[in-house]
Amino acid sequence: MANILVIADHDGASLKPATLNAVTAAGKIASGIGGDVHILVAGKGAQAAAEAAAKVAGVAKVLLADDAAYEHQLPEDVAPLVVSTVTGGGYGHVLAGATSVGKNLLPRVAALLDVAAISDITAVVSADTFERPIYAGNAIATVQSADAVKVITVRTTAFETAASEGGSAAVESVSGAGAAGLSSFVSAELTKSERPELTAARVVVSGGRGMQSGENFPLLEALADKLGAAVGASRAAVDAGFVPNDYQVGQTGKIVAPELYIAVGISGAIQHLAGMKDSKVIVAINKDEEAPIFQVADYGLVADLFKAVPELTAHI
Ligand SMILES: Cc1cc2nc3c(=O)[nH]c(=O)nc-3n(C[C@H](O)[C@H](O)[C@H](O)COP(=O)(O)OP(=O)(O)OC[C@H]3O[C@@H](n4cnc5c(N)ncnc54)[C@H](O)[C@@H]3O)c2cc1C
Repeated sequence: MANILVIADHDGASLKPATLNAVTAAGKIASGIGGDVHILVAGKGAQAAAEAAAKVAGVAKVLLADDAAYEHQLPEDVAPLVVSTVTGGGYGHVLAGATSVGKNLLPRVAALLDVAAISDITAVVSADTFERPIYAGNAIATVQSADAVKVITVRTTAFETAASEGGSAAVESVSGAGAAGLSSFVSAELTKSERPELTAARVVVSGGRGMQSGENFPLLEALADKLGAAVGASRAAVDAGFVPNDYQVGQTGKIVAPELYIAVGISGAIQHLAGMKDSKVIVAINKDEEAPIFQVADYGLVADLFKAVPELTAHI
């Protein structure tokens, strides 16, 4: 009976929500094979994140690799640590959220283990069989793996977040080989925002090419602030330089499934829909009544956004 290892996505002090979604997926695998779910926290001074991981319901053990080499969690350094932990601990599955961290790390882990990476799963059928979207979400592939270790990234929107309280796992120290010397940290420029993180937000307001310029995005920010929402964008808006890359929702951007998604001046290309069509309620504002976004919208407003959005914000 092999156990299941979840790689924590964290900032040293707390876990990112994606870790909790990965724990839920790990729990579904564990319930089929009777294994335990463990979390690996790699970082520097990451004791608080490890303690947060120990409280997650359903987690039996937390492995903490506290080393200056893992301070910035560079995948070149963390991947060998994961591999030695997996082989030393006899794990049968390694999971991480399909976030920029997980998507950067786990393919390296799979390559080092010489197994296939199974990316972006949306369902656990059994311990070796998983569902994942293909063709921008237009078809679902059921994949079965015969590899000894299954290396999996988890589409966070497809799994509930595990309860972050209720567990009382032991925290155990582990060590790896440290810095691999293949890469070094130079700097990080992170978007500073008072608004919720895009993939975790309850409400998302997104703007597209119809916004015409970055100067007009404050119109959406005012609406977002009234709703406690995150601001997103289509790729056309990002490519035109209206907003930074990390705003992008879609096939090659972030996958979101908030309770409410408001698409403003977005036509609804399939690559955009791939990132937001699982939202609970979709509202579209577009001046073209033929725009494909209206086919997925629960509420559609055919209107000029420069008139409709300020009115909406004022009413709210
Ligand atoms: C491999 C690949 C990956 C891709 N990945 C992504 C992705 O991750 N995310 C993504 O979004 N796209 C992605 N795309 C691009 C995608 O195909 C579309 O080009 C893009 O989504 C279009 O963005 P848009 O809807 O903002 O722009 P447009 O299609 O130009 O639509 C603008 C809309 O604004 C409306 N509008 C204009 N002015 C107003 C106004 N005053 N009031 C109201 N409405 C107005 C118009 O009627 C129109 O419907 C990808 C494409 C490829 C090939």
